[in-house]
Amino acid sequence: MDFFKFDKKLLDVMASCQDNLKSKFKEIDKVCEYNCNKVMRAFIDNKISTAHLNGSTGYGYDDIGRDTIDKLYAQVFDSQDAIVRHNFVSGTHAITVALFGILRPNDSLLSITGSPYDTLLNVIGNTKDSCGSLREFNIHYEQYNIFDNTHSVNELKDKCKRAKVVYIQRSRGYTDRPSLTVKKLKGIIDLVKGFNKNAVVFVDNCYGEFVQKAEPTSIGADLIAGSLIKNPGGGIADTGGYIAGKKNLVEAASFALTAPGIGKETGCSLDQNRKILLGLYFAPTVVSSSLKVCSLASEFFSALGYRVNKDYGQSDIITSITLGDKDSLLAFCEGIQSASPIDSFVSPLPWNMPGYNSQIIMAAGTFTQGASIELSADAPVKSPFNVYLQGGLCYFSSKIALLNAAQNLLNKNLLNIV
Ligand SMILES: *Cc1c(COP(=O)(O)O)cnc(C)c1O
Repeated sequence: MDFFKFDKKLLDVMASCQDNLKSKFKEIDKVCEYNCNKVMRAFIDNKISTAHLNGSTGYGYDDIGRDTIDKLYAQVFDSQDAIVRHNFVSGTHAITVALFGILRPNDSLLSITGSPYDTLLNVIGNTKDSCGSLREFNIHYEQYNIFDNTHSVNELKDKCKRAKVVYIQRSRGYTDRPSLTVKKLKGIIDLVKGFNKNAVVFVDNCYGEFVQKAEPTSIGADLIAGSLIKNPGGGIADTGGYIAGKKNLVEAASFALTAPGIGKETGCSLDQNRKILLGLYFAPTVVSSSLKVCSLASEFFSALGYRVNKDYGQSDIITSITLGDKDSLLAFCEGIQSASPIDSFVSPLPWNMPGYNSQIIMAAGTFTQGASIELSADAPVKSPFNVYLQGGLCYFSSKIALLNAAQNLLNKNLLNIV
């Protein structure tokens, strides 16, 4: 079975890391099995049939596949309604459509998890270049950070009272704060609703789907949104996004996506119904595989002497590894790239990516552009040379990439195994 030649010492470290993770993997499997059951129940209850796999063209009237997928998502996400479309170009777009759907001039939007994910800053209009932003429509923005304990609860209360929409980001994104567990999220939602029962609680659910048994909409969130090239697309949906939640809110969002009065009734599905269905079917398994890869990467590189973030695999599919110097960072990314299914023969190089103040290196030999749920590594080329490793469709294939990254460090004399 020697398709790859790895150093015996690396294989030994890897084997003991896998041993250490047995009980953690059991927990991940339990959540996976629960979510597979939930998804299967929804497929059967909604009588998914061969006809639903077909797509439509033009206006897409009477697209039963599309309409049934909306119902399927609504059931899986414990919500009254959902809109699932390939027309959402990204997670940011789905979140944007939800916000433009519910907010009106002079309303106030309050983020309580600090600054939202970078791409949302242009949407809110906090940046100089804000053409088309919520701010141009006179929608006020306020911010509070529940992770910053210098803030007072009274301040939160005042801000919640003024807010039409309270915005919560579940995943850590690329920040140092922990991802929110469903239990924590419920506590926060209850607190907000206690301050203002009319506030619409919106959760950015990107990277959160199927990581735990419950979803934000199961425990009191009014509306959520996410991307189909992340968790719920299972690595199979080509593009798209979803919004799920209270019926009136989903309808308001659907008017912002298509047109007022038209909403969910139109929008052809092309050939995406089959892929969206197949992706959802695979999603809990793909998410569990990503969580395992993330845990294994942390355990393995920690055993090799690197600093890693320790709450890995808890509620997120991203881990960070501190490599300490530029040569190691480049060697790590080369190792990941050359053990990828696509473009294994190319070398990733640091480049000046727009919007960043240092060079960025990315290793992503993936089937879907963006590499959002597939194994990839990216990093700003600056001290302390942290690499962010995420995703992993297949556990065993991803394990090869982890070994190969370590092997490349070893070959370049950048790593000593003690
Ligand atoms: C990925 C992500 C988004 C949206 O990003 P897109 O690249 O637009 O899909 C928003 N919030 C979080 C936390 C994310 O991880």
